[in-house]
Amino acid sequence: MKKMQLTTKIFIGLALGIVLGIILQPNPDIANNYVKPIGTLFLNLIKLVIVPLVFSSLVVGTCSMDDVRKLGRIGGKTMAYYLFTTAFAVTIGLVLANVTNVGGGYTIPIDAKAPEIAAAPNVIDTLLNIIPANPLKALVDGNMLQVISFALIIGAGIIGIGEKGKNLQAFFDSFAEVMYKIIAVIMEFAPIGVFALITPVVAQNGPSVLLPLLKLIIVVYAGCALHAILTYSLTVWGFAKVTPIQFFKGIAPAMIFAYTTASSSATLPINMKRTEENLGVPKSICSFTLPLGATVNMDGTAIYQGICAFFIAQIYGLELSLSAQLTIILTATLASIGTAGVPGAGMIMLGMVLQSVGLPIEGIAIIAGVDRILDMMRTMINITGDSACSVIVAATEGELNRSVFEKTAKAAK
Ligand code: ASP
Repeated sequence: MKKMQLTTKIFIGLALGIVLGIILQPNPDIANNYVKPIGTLFLNLIKLVIVPLVFSSLVVGTCSMDDVRKLGRIGGKTMAYYLFTTAFAVTIGLVLANVTNVGGGYTIPIDAKAPEIAAAPNVIDTLLNIIPANPLKALVDGNMLQVISFALIIGAGIIGIGEKGKNLQAFFDSFAEVMYKIIAVIMEFAPIGVFALITPVVAQNGPSVLLPLLKLIIVVYAGCALHAILTYSLTVWGFAKVTPIQFFKGIAPAMIFAYTTASSSATLPINMKRTEENLGVPKSICSFTLPLGATVNMDGTAIYQGICAFFIAQIYGLELSLSAQLTIILTATLASIGTAGVPGAGMIMLGMVLQSVGLPIEGIAIIAGVDRILDMMRTMINITGDSACSVIVAATEGELNRSVFEKTAKAAK
């Protein structure tokens, strides 16, 4: 028999969890006492990897900027496009979350009282605090902005000493690989985790609790679609004179693959092939832009994090101030650099975004049930952004092979 796909298993876990939740509704204590602990265990596993993962993958990400420097102009253009579009993506996410009132009208009484949201420090303090006076304390406390800046500084230091830094770079590289492996294993347990997380939520609150999640899915999908239409179509058209139809037609097979696998890394080979053959980007460019993008550029994930942070704040009945939303834009943009292109990584990074503005990390429990559905969409957007960037860089370098578009147009006739 063919092995069942993880996605299918997760959906089955979700469906069974909802059914059991409805059955246990008259007796939610059973769900809370016997099922919830399994969910808590799953969440603890996720929390366990956050700090080591962010730290190691960001050090590695920064070290890969060494190539950016070598590649000079192309590297600069690529990074500028990646960072700008990601910051724009979180902003789209937050604006959409505000406009649609994504988590409004429903407060989940998860634990009788809403956790206190940390008072927002003033802007100067926030900026000064980004550099940790005591980096180990930052790691222990899980102070994400500080962890990020520490990782960037270490990464920059490694690049700075050249050859002598290679060992440490290799160490963090291997450390990050270990973290990816652990995430992959944790994801194997996702069907059970999802089951155990959704059951008590439904048992406690009734199936109507799923409605806000449905709304969340619609808003995240809309945000991703908007980003594709606005950002990618317009930039590809404006900078590379490639029409949106030409672009999306060329990249569609890779997008579908990303949607089903929920992994940018797994999609990399097919994204390379499509970007080269269907969109005319030479290998010399896409062999740099795409692997870099698959590790540091995650627009879909950034949209998702913006919307989910807002959603979680709302269902806990907490207000997100403007400065907290600005912090989210900053952390989510940086988080996307540190997000691995593997299924579920964005949800783990969401934990850090929540932490950065003092939101309860337990909010992930509510989203975890439907995370796979969100993961598929955000991954599709993630890889599309990498390809759009490649097309633009190739075109502005005068190296885009436009004859591929004529060929596909002829073939279509
Ligand atoms: N699965 C996503 C990717 O591979 C990362 C994420 O979980 O957001 O691009």
